[in-house]
Amino acid sequence: MFYLDTGNKDMCCGCGACESICPTKCITMVADEEGFLYPKKQDDLCTDCGLCESVCPSIHKEKIDYKESGNLPKAFMAINKDEAIVHNSASGGVFSAVANAYCKDNFVIFGAQFDDQLRVIHSHVHSLDEIDKYRKSKYVQSDINDSYKKAEEYLKSGKRVLFTGTPCQIAGLRLYLKKEYEHLFCVDLVCHGVPNQKIFDKYIQYLENKYKGKVTDFTFRHKIINKQDKWNSRNVKIRISERELIMNANEDKYLRGFHPGLYYRPSCYKCKYANPKRISDLTMADFWGVEKLFPEKDVHKGISALIVNSVKGNKLLSDLNQIMELNEVDFDYVIQSNAQLNRPAKINPKREQFFDLLNENRFDLAVDRCIPRPSIIRRIASKVLPTSTKDFIKKLVFKEEGE
Ligand SMILES: Cc1cc2nc3c(=O)[nH]c(=O)nc-3n(C[C@H](O)[C@H](O)[C@H](O)COP(=O)(O)OP(=O)(O)OC[C@H]3O[C@@H](n4cnc5c(N)ncnc54)[C@H](O)[C@@H]3O)c2cc1C
Ligand code: SF4
Ligand code: SF4
Ligand code: SF4
Repeated sequence: MFYLDTGNKDMCCGCGACESICPTKCITMVADEEGFLYPKKQDDLCTDCGLCESVCPSIHKEKIDYKESGNLPKAFMAINKDEAIVHNSASGGVFSAVANAYCKDNFVIFGAQFDDQLRVIHSHVHSLDEIDKYRKSKYVQSDINDSYKKAEEYLKSGKRVLFTGTPCQIAGLRLYLKKEYEHLFCVDLVCHGVPNQKIFDKYIQYLENKYKGKVTDFTFRHKIINKQDKWNSRNVKIRISERELIMNANEDKYLRGFHPGLYYRPSCYKCKYANPKRISDLTMADFWGVEKLFPEKDVHKGISALIVNSVKGNKLLSDLNQIMELNEVDFDYVIQSNAQLNRPAKINPKREQFFDLLNENRFDLAVDRCIPRPSIIRRIASKVLPTSTKDFIKKLVFKEEGE
């Protein structure tokens, strides 16, 4: 079942743990025709040591699942007490709160950022003043590069390491490390799926041609108050030369393809982490369905569900309580109300068509052909109907709720 033996892409999340562990450096991550990275082995350098297979999370995830024990796992509604941080975060600002609570001294923080070429990469910082670049979701699989090795070096030198990422990246790290470290703290997110850098680059190219300028800054999950006086967090904010564009999930073509799962990595549709068995100390998510428990709260303003999976995670709660509004809620309710804690995202029936079109055409044409912009009636309905009615209709039609 190991990807390097079978070539089965459903079984490779692209975490890069095999590349990082290989003692002869005979594995490199290479993009396939869709643009997703997969390990490639140079056979003449391979000594058959088996290390690559032993760290593969697609095979060994169960070894690192946190087991139910005592009152764990448990779940909270969580909102950072600093409103500016909530506004600048994808959800309720859990990541920033954890960074502040865990990182007092001699620490390093790993997360996903845009670099100056708008590539999504994993990197690390040694100061809380630098964590802003990790805030907000980036809907592109981050290049993990040498982050596992660096994390190991820091752990061995006695530093406290806070590592954040998708569940499959955290699983890759923990299996790569091969042992538990007291000073490692892992935080994953509930994850819908990831597109790749090639798709995002083509999208940026389309924007630059259309708006005749250079995209210098990009933000997913930009929060605004819309014309109906409601918060909406499904927007992109783009700086192109001197111009600032804000587009919602219907207007922006990347989001239009992202949300219905048009171009995720194949393994995402079979994701092993789309369930309550977690591999990180804490799991952060949007708190879909929060209004049923707290009618005055609006998830789009920034309300997180925080799941505590480990004893280490539990110990941080008293510090987190100083920084966040935390209310314990029914664990099963959180699981039921978040699709990706129950099942992987569904593959979009137009996915294959999209990649065929993308290889010959512009990004915008490929998206428009596969997911046409909603009709004017739907767009008007979406503007005039109250959110509760829209959510009800969406649930009826899609039977699914996700980010
Ligand atoms: C690709 C993706 C899909 C998601 N899908 C869902 C979903 O279906 N349901 C749901 O409830 N929540 C989902 N989330 C998580 C959610 O939207 C928030 O990101 C999460 O709750 C953290 O919010 P925050 O306000 O605490 O963090 P923020 O302050 O916004 O911090 C963002 C955190 O996410 C990490 N991160 C951002 N982009 C990436 C990336 N590309 N790869 C790895 N790590 C990244 C950063 O390192 C940082 O730790 C998804 C996030 C991502 C990145
Ligand atoms: S078996 Fe060992 S040498 Fe061969 S690719 Fe895997 S890790 Fe590298
Ligand atoms: S270790 Fe990661 S990158 Fe390597 S085969 Fe397994 S899932 Fe793929
Ligand atoms: S959906 Fe699953 S396999 Fe895909 S990036 Fe997220 S955690 Fe990894």
